[in-house]
Amino acid sequence: MPRVPALRNRLQNTPVAGAKRVILAAPRGYCAGVDRAVIAVEKALDHYGAPVYVRKQIVHNIHVVSTLEKKGAIFVDDVDEVPIGSHIVFSAHGVSPAVVQGAADRELQAIDATCPLVTKVHREAVRFAKQDKHILLIGHTGHEEVEGTMGHAPDQTTLVTSPADVPGLVVADPDNLVWLSQTTLSVDETMETVRLLRERFPNLQDPPSDDICYATQNRQVAIKKVSEQAELVIVVGSANSSNTVRLVDVALENGAKAAYRVDYASEIQQEWLDGVATVGVTSGASVPEVLVQEVLDDLADAGFGDVSQVVTAEEDLMFSLPKELRTDPSGKADERGLGGRTRKLDWQQQ
Ligand code: SF4
Repeated sequence: MPRVPALRNRLQNTPVAGAKRVILAAPRGYCAGVDRAVIAVEKALDHYGAPVYVRKQIVHNIHVVSTLEKKGAIFVDDVDEVPIGSHIVFSAHGVSPAVVQGAADRELQAIDATCPLVTKVHREAVRFAKQDKHILLIGHTGHEEVEGTMGHAPDQTTLVTSPADVPGLVVADPDNLVWLSQTTLSVDETMETVRLLRERFPNLQDPPSDDICYATQNRQVAIKKVSEQAELVIVVGSANSSNTVRLVDVALENGAKAAYRVDYASEIQQEWLDGVATVGVTSGASVPEVLVQEVLDDLADAGFGDVSQVVTAEEDLMFSLPKELRTDPSGKADERGLGGRTRKLDWQQQ
């Protein structure tokens, strides 16, 4: 991802009590599912040429989307907008069977970049629906992932958006319930929702494994640790990125006096830094590291050049690319077939 032209020296280095420093949370930024989805669009453009259509934002990040647009991707809300026979990529958040059918009806060449961890939840929903269970899906109204998952068992799923929904839930058979969740929720709030659900429905069945994905969980654990020491936390990511927004919540719940989300470094306000000696920095799972680097550059201008890292987990997961894209256009397997890339911050490379 290219850098955004930085507005350097915009922030002032004002004195504070104590040494100024930045604590970076790790893990942060791109997860394996986002990396795979972004590479899928890049490779689809290489293979088939522009334009390649993408249903919804491939990942919820404004910079990633605008960069891919410049390369020839066209983002659409629905398959109906795509010319018959074109290539279309389904986003990392997944789609319902109705969308797959809609694409087939238009003879679109579909490349499914749904994150495998979202597909896992889809499979669970289908399996439980076949067993005639009713699914309580914990998630956010209108989120694409929730729409996709509900679309796999539309008649047997009830959405639970927060702990506050639990008292008002109406179910046909309280002894035949299972819960599933969106992959990018707050772990703590979801566990509270499940606790309340179980209080109301003691025979509620758990999913076979966590639906909140490893990347969401790891980023929340890391920012919790950082927030114990940071007065201010800056979370890089877009407003429609669920896991990004949760990081702001988690920071505030775990010691940070203030926490703000920014798409770009240029959104950092001077007054946020007033009287602050320690700034925590993290980024959502759909955020390229270059945007974090720009935040670090701007913070360095304001005297926060001392950067250390709190590492709470190592991540090395990679997912195979969609099968159509595992080779280069000549049919030869290429080295990006796995979908993983190694990234380092500039300051780590020095
Ligand atoms: S946040 Fe989790 S579920 Fe979403 S794309 Fe990344 S790994 Fe997959």
